[in-house]
Amino acid sequence: MTVNRMQDDYHEPIIHRAGWVIVDPWTIYPNGYVRVEDGSIQEIGQGTPAGGDEVKDYGKGVIFPALVNAHAHLELCALKDRIITHKGFGFWVKDLIEKRALLDHDTLREASEIGIREMLASRCGAVGEISSLGLTLEPVRKSGLAGVWFRESLGDHVSNTEKWESRSSDLQISLSGHAPHTTSPEVLVKIKNRTRERNAPFSIHLAESDEEMSFLTTAQGPWKDFLLSRGIDPKSWGLPVESPVRHLHAIGILDNQTILVHMLQTDQTDLNIIHESGAHVCLCPRSNHALHGRLPNLDGMIQAGLKLCLGTDSLASVSSLSMLDEMAFVSKSFPMAAPERIFDMATLGGAAALGLDDRMGTLVPGKQARLAYLDIQATKASEVLEALVNFSNTDTMPFQPNPKTIIK
Ligand SMILES: [Zn+2]
Repeated sequence: MTVNRMQDDYHEPIIHRAGWVIVDPWTIYPNGYVRVEDGSIQEIGQGTPAGGDEVKDYGKGVIFPALVNAHAHLELCALKDRIITHKGFGFWVKDLIEKRALLDHDTLREASEIGIREMLASRCGAVGEISSLGLTLEPVRKSGLAGVWFRESLGDHVSNTEKWESRSSDLQISLSGHAPHTTSPEVLVKIKNRTRERNAPFSIHLAESDEEMSFLTTAQGPWKDFLLSRGIDPKSWGLPVESPVRHLHAIGILDNQTILVHMLQTDQTDLNIIHESGAHVCLCPRSNHALHGRLPNLDGMIQAGLKLCLGTDSLASVSSLSMLDEMAFVSKSFPMAAPERIFDMATLGGAAALGLDDRMGTLVPGKQARLAYLDIQATKASEVLEALVNFSNTDTMPFQPNPKTIIK
């Protein structure tokens, strides 16, 4: 079974059944089934459904809602294994910019199609794609993935407004700002206001690197020199500020349609501000580990009641775009995080962040039948999610703290 709207082929009712069916992280049916008609879930239950509809039996494993990768850069797939990650964030950024400039747009676009196939194969049904060059809209659209395609603005100009689509479309177009240390407050507010007018999600990288933290809180240092070398003058940005989160709060960016990506550098005040704002937090722990040698304060975020989701980030910093790999890494790295919580982040949490929770994220009647199947081994319900969030057999090294390497 794949997640890619396979049910579009079936206008007649069809029953999908398996050893287990996950309705939501807290509701798991043994010997479960999902009745689907015209791509929508009609009924879900356990045992043998009444009626003579066609039945597809997948085996002893588990049917579950397609995963949601809330933060990816498919446009960077061609850079897989080409960017040096272990010399610190500043080096990585420069390496990425230089090596990407050597690749033509066709190469970048073709590689993104391979990345999309990897996503689909790893049971992903929706993506929050961040596009800085504008190359990936058609590949994502063609793939049938749901989600949001964000056109990213960087520096001191606003990217062209793309044709906006209605909220009923499964792939919405919106805008994102790169980050508060690369993009002026004026531009960020302008973009956020445009997305507000459209009732669309807005995404931004936040509180990720030491370079960002140091620059925003001192208005000095190597990052300032880097910006100036790229023709961006930050003198009117209102810096220094107390923290990246307080900065976005002060300029009015935080609300329940904002997705804050990374969040490695937060204190309790920041977490409280985010909670009050209703903003979503998207964590990309494998990328954080590779680039920064550290992980976000997931336990503190759970305790603060934040709305959490997961993303893979790009192949310029991680080895796969698999949400199965991301969940497995989270499971190994955060032993205090329950499998239910991790699975919720990878499904309903992501769907909510991307404005899709009315149609994805759980298997309930009325939602889309974006179903996934994995051949896990479980003898009781409590083992199902444990097996699922640890399913990946690649890239699941537990987090090992290592010294930070920062290029000054
Ligand atoms: Zn990113």
